[in-house]
Amino acid sequence: MVKFVKIIPIALKVGTVTRKYPFERPLITESFRGAIEVDPVKCTGCGACTRICPPKALSLIREGETLILRYFVGKCIFCGMCADICPEKAIAITKEFELASENLSELNVDVEHELKKCVKCGATFVSTKLLNKVRSQVEALPDDIAELCPNCRRLEILKRFTGGR
Ligand code: SF4
Ligand code: SF4
Repeated sequence: MVKFVKIIPIALKVGTVTRKYPFERPLITESFRGAIEVDPVKCTGCGACTRICPPKALSLIREGETLILRYFVGKCIFCGMCADICPEKAIAITKEFELASENLSELNVDVEHELKKCVKCGATFVSTKLLNKVRSQVEALPDDIAELCPNCRRLEILKRFTGGR
């Protein structure tokens, strides 16, 4: 009760601070974090953001020969960790907060990547974009090894070390 009485003069001095949203725009500060936006040109489909995202709002989905990076805003807690971890700086944090929808599928945003097929077994294993990036940065990676999936690569390296015995 005493606390309540102390608050009254402060409240009278400060006046009204709440805003009548949606009739008035709420205060959006400089550090406010809303929905994220993934740049499809910069993104390589490496999946680092999906591993760090606490509520799993980001996921990698394989559909045939396509790799999809899916952002489901319905789970996002707007922590910004995905933007911090992305090696390509492909994630921007927007100020967008009016995200409600009656249709769940409208809350998904997809970025699609072509998947690379293993030249030996035909299994898809990595996005073509990511493989090309690795190949451009690791000169020591022979072309015939780079085009193999992890399983076939292990077997091929073992074969080379043991001379096929
Ligand atoms: S971390 Fe960046 S580059 Fe990797 S999948 Fe996520 S958005 Fe794309
Ligand atoms: S802002 Fe946080 S919760 Fe939202 S997608 Fe990024 S890591 Fe996940």
